[in-house]
This record gives sequence, C-alpha cells and structure tokens, in this order.
Amino acid sequence: MADPAECTIKVMCRFRPLNEAEVMRGDKYIPKFQGEDNVIIAGKPYMFDRVFQSSTTQEQVYNACAQKIVKDVLEGYNGTIFAYGQTSSGKTHTMEGNLHDPDGMGIIPRIVQDIFNYIYSMDENLEFHIKVCSVLLYVLTWNNDGCTERFVCSPEEVMDTIDEGKSNRHVAVTNMNEHSSRSHSIFLINVKQENTQTEQKLSGKLYLVDLAGSEKVSKTGAEGAVLDEAKNINKSLSSLGNVISALAEGSTYIPYRDSKMTRILQDSLGGNCRTTIVICCSPSSFNEAETKSTLMFGQRAK
Ligand code: ADP
Ligand code: MG
Repeated sequence: MADPAECTIKVMCRFRPLNEAEVMRGDKYIPKFQGEDNVIIAGKPYMFDRVFQSSTTQEQVYNACAQKIVKDVLEGYNGTIFAYGQTSSGKTHTMEGNLHDPDGMGIIPRIVQDIFNYIYSMDENLEFHIKVCSVLLYVLTWNNDGCTERFVCSPEEVMDTIDEGKSNRHVAVTNMNEHSSRSHSIFLINVKQENTQTEQKLSGKLYLVDLAGSEKVSKTGAEGAVLDEAKNINKSLSSLGNVISALAEGSTYIPYRDSKMTRILQDSLGGNCRTTIVICCSPSSFNEAETKSTLMFGQRAK
C-alpha cells in the first residue's frame, strides 16, 4: 500500500501523428525518440516519466497514465490527471477520445469502466456511491457552465452525462471547438464506499482535466476581449505550473489561491495526492516553438 504522506507527480509526454493538413503542407516530423522516456527536439533532449510516440494506442496510454491512480482512488486517495498542450495537440483525444469505441476510448471512459468492473467484482457487504460532475471553466469570467452533478450506477450512465453536458454546451455556445479550447474542462469522479458490516468508510476523488489550449498570445495578433482571454489562460496555466512545481519540490507554501482552478483542485493536488500530467505535442515543424514551450512546462513539473 502507498505511503499516505507521499505526493506523487508523474509527467508523461504524448506526440500525436502528423495530420493531413500538415502532411499536405510538407511539414517535417521533428521528434526523435530515445528509449521510453526521452524525446529530442532540435538537438535538445527532454526527459519524462514516459514518452509516447505517435503510434501509441489509447490502451497503452491508459495503462501507463491512469491505471495506478484508479487503484489508489479506490483505496481512498485523491488524484488528478491533466492534459496540457496547444490547441489540436491531442488533449481531448487523450482524455475522452471516442467515448463509444472500445479501441478509440480515451482515459475517462476507460477509468469509468475500470471503476465499475471493480465494483461488480466486490462482495455484497460493500456499498458504493459514485458521483460525477462535469464543469467547463471559462477563464475570462471564471464562470462555470454545463455543470451537471449526479449519482451514477453504470458506465453507460456516465457516458450519457458526458454526452448531455456536451449537447447543453452546444446550445449555449455557437462554436464549441473554439470555446472548449479556451476553457478548462474538468470532470470529477467521486467514489464513496461503505462496508455495511464493519461500517468502515472510504472516499476518493479523481479530477480529470482537459486544459485550455496553451498557445501563446503574441502569435495570434489578438486584441480586446480575445487578448484578455488569452492572457487569462496563460495566467491560469502558469499558476497551475507554479502549484505543481511547488508540490514537486516539496515546498511548504503552495500557491493554490492564485487561480480558481487550483482552488477547485486543491484537495486533490496536495496531501496524499496522485497527480499525472500528460503533455500533448504536435510533431510538426510548423509547431516547433509551441512544442518546445509545452515540453518546458512539463519539465518544470518534474
Ligand atoms: P486538442 O483537444 O488538444 O485541441 P484534439 O484531441 O481535439 O486536440 O486533437 C486534434 C485532432 O487530432 C483530432 O481530430 C484528434 O482525433 C486527432 N488526434 C489527436 N491525437 C491523436 C492521436 N494520438 N492519434 C490519432 N489522432 C489524434
Ligand atoms: Mg480539445
């Protein structure tokens, strides 16, 4: 069993394949992989707990990034899994993927399946209460929209909740893709168990966070509200970086209160936490500068 005082932070890095537009444009495939934990960009090596090449399957990513955290959450620990990267780098593919396809499913649907398989395998004296909540945190106003909190009894019900959350958002915003890349999407799974004979209780929370796109403001030539929005995204991502590097260094002061997201996640980032960050990257020469900045963010968290 894991040490309760121990706070583990793992940083994984995933490269998606070149997409059609990049191939058509003649972009180069720039990463060079060395072993299981090293990627070289423009001659500079970057080390992570694991590096996933473009051909890595959703199942392999799940096994390396989430399986252990799920086990710990079922033992009463709290955890968080983040996907960080520029828009179109594969964050949503990694976290959600295709919710209804066994091969294409990302981390969230696999976690849900694993949790319910565990519940179905346990004896009758254990009573489980699973609650899920989905929040889209828009950084300019820090408003939440699409918040749906409910008890669920099967994996199908969780997928329905996610689908419903998405369709509600479609009603509220005209361009979902654009909106989602400028918001943090937070999905919470709360697992409570009680042994009806011994009355022993356990509770674990798992936050699954698809972060707003990390691309830099200057490149887009933004003005006015769009610029404010971009600045706020950068601010909230850098305060997340500050919290995670303070945790990684074992600092006594952790600046949770600097952003709304880190306040929300506070009890799953500190204490007996399990944190995994999946750094998502484009392999294209066109995105080299963004990819380097993404890799640097990941290095800071180590
Ligand atoms: P983000 O959420 O970071 O903006 P997406 O997850 O939406 O990016 O990915 C952008 C596109 O690339 C999507 O069409 C997605 O299906 C595809 N994609 C991302 N990662 C992979 C991957 N590892 N393998 C195949 N396709 C991918
Ligand atoms: Mg996305």
